[in-house]
Amino acid sequence: MLWGKVKERRKTRSVKVGKVIIGGDSPVVVQGMTKTSTENISATLRQIIELEEAGARIVRIALPHMRAVKALSKIRKKVKLALVGDVHFNPELAIAAISEGIDKIRINPGNIGKEGILRIAEAAKGSGVPLRVGVNSGSLKESFLPKLTENKRRNPTQKVAQAMVRSALETVTLLEEDNFQDIIVSLKSPYVLTTILSCQLISQKIPYPLHLGITAAGPPPQGIIRSASGIAILLAQGIGDTIRVSLTGDPVEEVKTAYQILQSLDFIKDRPTLISCPTCGRCQIDLISVVNQVASGIEELKLPLTVAVMGCEVNGPGEAREADIGIACGRKGALLFKKGKVFAKVEERNLAGALLSEVTRWVQEEGRGKK
Ligand code: SF4
Repeated sequence: MLWGKVKERRKTRSVKVGKVIIGGDSPVVVQGMTKTSTENISATLRQIIELEEAGARIVRIALPHMRAVKALSKIRKKVKLALVGDVHFNPELAIAAISEGIDKIRINPGNIGKEGILRIAEAAKGSGVPLRVGVNSGSLKESFLPKLTENKRRNPTQKVAQAMVRSALETVTLLEEDNFQDIIVSLKSPYVLTTILSCQLISQKIPYPLHLGITAAGPPPQGIIRSASGIAILLAQGIGDTIRVSLTGDPVEEVKTAYQILQSLDFIKDRPTLISCPTCGRCQIDLISVVNQVASGIEELKLPLTVAVMGCEVNGPGEAREADIGIACGRKGALLFKKGKVFAKVEERNLAGALLSEVTRWVQEEGRGKK
């Protein structure tokens, strides 16, 4: 198959989470997750604000006990952003969170029984709160665990993916039979191919929006690469309505990575793109430091500007000319290109500064500010 563009998104029902719509014709929604103890209200609020500033439209908080739910009631009063409560084992926590104004509940079919799920659904129905049926390969119910022979244990992708799908379908069917359809589904594994296969399979069987992510993907850069590999492949196949990147690290980094995935697939176009060469033996200047300065200088911009920083005359002029603003370095300085034409000669000691000044001028000319 030849791909010139991503496949058209799979049509799903739309589900409202607070004021945010997931699925239907809505753009893919980026979610974040706090990593504080929820009962540490000031730290949790601070992190929610940081995630919102980074672009998260929905933030998930952990509700492991009633102390966390009590904290939620105070957090709710100060936060307009859509909040999701992550609940395991105890349905009472979900029911209490719904009465405290949570916007969505994530349940794990692997650790809440049918009776508990139906009780949560009853409370959710009354308050217009959707449920995410969040299946994780690491917490499948005993009855769904695939019987892996030694051979399959080394390559469990298909068996585990099918087991995850069966688990999700059992809960989705239970909810549908209870006349509950405000459903979002996620199937996550730490293994990229297992996650991709399970999401492909479930997407053919249900009309509900899918939440994508690679669970426990690890620290950056491994976690970024694994998350991007899984999420991007699915999105490019038209599968997925909301995403959350999982990193052992800063939650703001998770949100930034999610946006970079969306940007790399052209799902969003209002962020800057930095083109820079890897440098090699031809490069005569400290290009890495120039690129780092330019990267942090354009990070906060919210406009579709392409900036190129290239190390020499081999590919430099071509890429710099293609970009909106670019520099192609030579022996002791660089040529600065703007809108495809040579605009100025720049000295080596001021490469990043000259380029960023032009970026500032461009922003002013375009009449657009920082986000
Ligand atoms: S642009 Fe020049 S310096 Fe950069 S990688 Fe290519 S050949 Fe090397």
